[in-house]
Amino acid sequence: MKTLQEIVDRAKRIVFFGGAGVSTTSGIPDFRSADGLFSRTYAGLTPEMMLSASFFYLHPDRFFEFYRAYMLHPEAQPNAAHRKLFELERAGKLSGLVTQNIDGLHRKAGNRLVYELHGSVHENVCMDCAKTYDLAWLLATQGVPHCPRCGGIVKPSVVLYGEGLDPYVSTGACREISRCDALIVAGTSLTVEPAASFLTYFRGGSRELVVINREETPADSRATLVIRGDVAQVMGELRV
Ligand code: NAD
Ligand code: ZN
Repeated sequence: MKTLQEIVDRAKRIVFFGGAGVSTTSGIPDFRSADGLFSRTYAGLTPEMMLSASFFYLHPDRFFEFYRAYMLHPEAQPNAAHRKLFELERAGKLSGLVTQNIDGLHRKAGNRLVYELHGSVHENVCMDCAKTYDLAWLLATQGVPHCPRCGGIVKPSVVLYGEGLDPYVSTGACREISRCDALIVAGTSLTVEPAASFLTYFRGGSRELVVINREETPADSRATLVIRGDVAQVMGELRV
């Protein structure tokens, strides 16, 4: 903690790169922990299959059943990690917050410099007329949601397996990673591509790389500091 505090005190451009582990304390299960969604199958299908673009187009009814049951957590609130990242941004120390999460909790905590690589459950777009709908609207519908204006299917703005990332979001995220003087990687297994490979834009040298994760990650060997612990607890203890 002392080393992390020194790194944060010294840094002028911190970038945070997070994953599902940042939100487990808020009650949202991750994918690859022992109790995560990937620990079982759903009617014989893996979550990776259920959340693929091809499954969405072939079986929208079953996609939405899974999506509504496991991916939506409207009651979840930001935890100590989200709150500390907002403080860091407000203090002008955080120059970018890159997340693989789709839960919108960083924006809910107040952060604005957020790069949501995989989109957000809070935005839903009609595939025919492009009208957008919020999460409350989606929650009030059942089965496959249809646009009241034109009847088209309304698709969540989340990146499904097999889909590309928004190039504007990716470019911004990579730019911030390449410019930062300290990069904190937390709560991610770094197995989902292309997001994980964005860390190659981190330049090293005198710049600090910190990993905070319960389990080993592929970034550990490059890191200045590895903290094997709970993201919310560790971030919560930082002084801004
Ligand atoms: P992952 O499930 O592959 O890995 C999570 C990692 O975080 C694991 O290594 C685990 O040990 C660690 N972890 C879990 N809780 C932790 C905690 N409290 N403190 C420290 N470490 C903790 O998640 P990923 O790498 O983000 O990849 C999963 C993909 O699934 C992402 O693309 C993401 O979009 C999506 N997803 C998002 C959410 C969400 O929005 N909250 C939830 C589940 C999955
Ligand atoms: Zn429409």
